[in-house]
Order: sequence, then structure tokens, then C-alpha cells
Amino acid sequence: MSRVPDDVPEQSLDPKDWAELRAQAHRMLDDILDFTQGLRDRPVWQPVPRTVREHFCAPFPRGPQDLESVHREFLDFILPFGGGNAHPGFMGWVQGGGTVEGMLADMLAAGLNANLGGRDQAPLEVERQIVHWVQDLFGFPSTASGLFVTGTSIANLLAVLVARAARLGLEVRREGLGARAGKLRAYASTGAHGCIAQAMDLAGFGTEALRLIAVDDHFRIDGAALKAAIARDRADGLEPFLVVGSAGTVDTGAVDDLTLLADVAAAEKMWFHIDGAYGALGMLSPEIAPLLKGLERADSIAFDFHKWGQVPYDAGFLIVRDGTLHYDTFAAPAAYLRREARGLAGGSPWPCDFGPDLSRGFRALKTWFTLKVHGGDAVGATIAKSCALARHLERRIRAEPELELLAPAQLNIVCFRFRAPDADRVNAGIVADLQESGIAAPSATTINGKFAIRAALFNHRTEQRDVDAMLDAVLRFGGNHS
Ligand SMILES: *Cc1c(COP(=O)(O)O)cnc(C)c1O
Repeated sequence: MSRVPDDVPEQSLDPKDWAELRAQAHRMLDDILDFTQGLRDRPVWQPVPRTVREHFCAPFPRGPQDLESVHREFLDFILPFGGGNAHPGFMGWVQGGGTVEGMLADMLAAGLNANLGGRDQAPLEVERQIVHWVQDLFGFPSTASGLFVTGTSIANLLAVLVARAARLGLEVRREGLGARAGKLRAYASTGAHGCIAQAMDLAGFGTEALRLIAVDDHFRIDGAALKAAIARDRADGLEPFLVVGSAGTVDTGAVDDLTLLADVAAAEKMWFHIDGAYGALGMLSPEIAPLLKGLERADSIAFDFHKWGQVPYDAGFLIVRDGTLHYDTFAAPAAYLRREARGLAGGSPWPCDFGPDLSRGFRALKTWFTLKVHGGDAVGATIAKSCALARHLERRIRAEPELELLAPAQLNIVCFRFRAPDADRVNAGIVADLQESGIAAPSATTINGKFAIRAALFNHRTEQRDVDAMLDAVLRFGGNHS
């Protein structure tokens, strides 16, 4: 009896000792739960020491290392030096705090190693269910399409591409931008996020095809200026095709008059897109929802579950009223992606038909767990709480002669500064002091040409005592600087 000469020896990357792996896995889970439970006792952020940075200069590992010691490195060199956005004292940029349930769901999703590009599988039903929930929340028809993406930056880009196809026809996919495309113009306020201009760039129009319209005293798009700009462009032989409303601007939390924008878009036959990166989920709060009136009239809305929705990163989302047009903008036949009536290749259309991502993670699962475990009302209540905290902060700033309010709280963002002769320098110092102290981490921006300390209250863990601790520290550090 001769052995088959080319028998391939068994070898996989699964654990050799499952019992040992299991014990270590439970320790890892306990460690990260301890971290989350004890967040408040840690600094919000601390600078990454040089020795820690140097740790990441080790060469590519060709040999094995046991899981326990790799995890030890995580605990020593990574965990303490994160960006801090899970911490209740984090008040910078626009970042959610994450949920424990979302974290656990992400582990389950990784365990399944689900690829949500397509195919006939229950994980896609989870994503489809969330599409239906979003349709209901925003008052969109059941024919609207929805898609998880990394974030609102990409969702805005996809929306611009759908709007481009709506205006130029699907030929644009084959022929590229022709002469007519050079005449197309889009409109958003000066408060719009920079990714709108970037989307215009990436879609081939160029950033100058985006008109940035002045804002009013409340940092909302100026309707008269918008109409004038559109009329001027038409008179010049240009073709207005897209208006982008902001539902919560990044600097001040301003919500454009969405009803006005819907009216303008309807009258001018333009696509109406909303960047609702964080603000759109304000629909979960009965207190905030009325501010978003007109949202239900948009052609498309981009938003993130990972900001006010608190789902762990990343979980961006795009919903498009005309699901057929959305499909037609991206779907591309390929023999290796053939759809069948039976078998695993069933269940068409697939998410890969609605955007450029073919391999896609199971972002829907951490969103599903977060929404189901807590319920939309509780998430909405934390959204309303963050707005109440912003109003508290605003009241304290107004009452404090050493402080100047630069932008009132529209939602959950407050911009202010410490009064000082050399205010820009002093306030930049205060922000850095705050971050390095580990007490709180606001960020900075410029409001009407003035350097502003920007407190953006997105984390569901942030309470009044955290906001007060931040403001007390501003007064203390401000005193040291001036
Ligand atoms: C955060 C944000 C974006 C970008 O979203 P990402 O998820 O970071 O890509 C766009 N617009 C606004 C108003 C934002 O707050």
C-alpha cells in the first residue's frame, strides 16, 4: 500500500488548545468590561509616551507569540492611549461614546465573519430591517433604499453620485462627465461639513461647483442669499442641480430650515440632500424632532449611528428616497456576482448593488443590538440630555464675566472663550491644558474669526458634573495664562 504522495498536512489558524484559548478569551472580555466600567476614574486622554510609540517599530512578526502576551501589549501600549471618546469627559469634535452591547455584537459579528456584500443570508435581513426602521423614523416610503457605509463622509459622496445620475442620466456611468456637467452647481451653507466639498471633488465636479451660501445669526443657511445665488447662476447659463441642507452643523449645531430648502429644491427641480451626520437621529427625541421638520421631504439623507446613536465605530448610513435610482447608480453586472433564483446566490438585490463596497462588515449587528437592548426612546433621551447639558453650560458661561459665549447652544454644541488680551493664544493654551490634564477634552474651532473652545456633548455618559468640571478647569487654566 503506497501513500498518496501529495497528501497535504492539516494546518489551520484555529487554536491548538481550545480550553486555554477560552480561558484567555474570558480574561480579555473581563479586561475590556473593567475598562469601560472604570472609564470615569481614568484620564480622558494622555499623550502617547515616546517609549510607547517606539514599541510599534518592531519588525514584521514571522513567528508566533502567545495570545496572552499580545493582549498584555494591548493593555500596556494601546488601551491607555486611545483617543478618549468613550470617556464622559470627552467633548471634542463630533464623536459618540459607544455601547457595551454594540461592542459585544461586534465580537459576535467578527465570530460569524459575516460578509454583507450580498448572498442569501440572515445577516442581510438584519440590515434590511434597519433600513425599514430608518424609513419609518424619517417618514420615507418603503421603496427607499438604505445602506451602511463607514461614515457620513462616504454617505454624502454616494448621495452626490446619485444626484449626479439623476441630473445627467445613467449615461454618465459609461461616458463620464461631458460638457454639460461643467455647468452643474450645488449649494450648501458656509457651515456645511468639508466632506460636502470633497464629495463634489471626488464626483468630478470640482469644489468650485459648490456654492457656499452665507448663514444668518443662528448659523443657518440664509434663504434669500440661496435663492439669489441660484438665480444668478441660472442667469449665467449654469445649472443648479443639488442643495445640501445641514441637520446639525459641525461647528455650532445649527439646523438649516429644511422646509425652506425642500421648497427651494422643489421649485428649482434640484436634488435635496441632507447631511444629518449626527442631527438626523434627533428624530428619536420628541423634544428635538420638531427642529428637523422638512427632513421627511429630502431625496437623500446621510447620517451616522456612531455619533448621537452611540453605536461603536463605524456605522454610517445613507437612505435614498428613490431606491431604484440608487440601485441604477451603482449596480454593475459581473459574471462572478451572478444572481440565482435558488441557492446561496439568491436574495437579490444585494447591498453591493447600492455602493462601491463589495466586501462589507456586519455594521448592522452592533446597531441592531444597541437599538433593541436600549430601545430608541432611551437613545433619544440621551440625545435630549446632551442638549440640556449644552443649555446648562451656556447658562454658566453667560453668568461668568471671565467667559464670552461665541455661539449659543442650538443643540448640543457650545462655543465660547476665556476673555483675555491675547485671546486666541490664551484659549489655544487652555484647550491643550485641558486635554493634557486628562480632566476633559473639548476641541477648538474658529467662530466669526475668533478662536473658540468648542464643547460638543455627544457622549451618553457625560453628566452635568463632567460639564462643570470642564468649565471649572477652563476658569482655572485661563487664570494661569493671563
Ligand atoms: C461627523 C460629520 C461628518 C462626517 O462624518 P464621518 O462619519 O466622520 O465620515 C459630516 N458632516 C457632519 C455635520 C458631521 O458632524
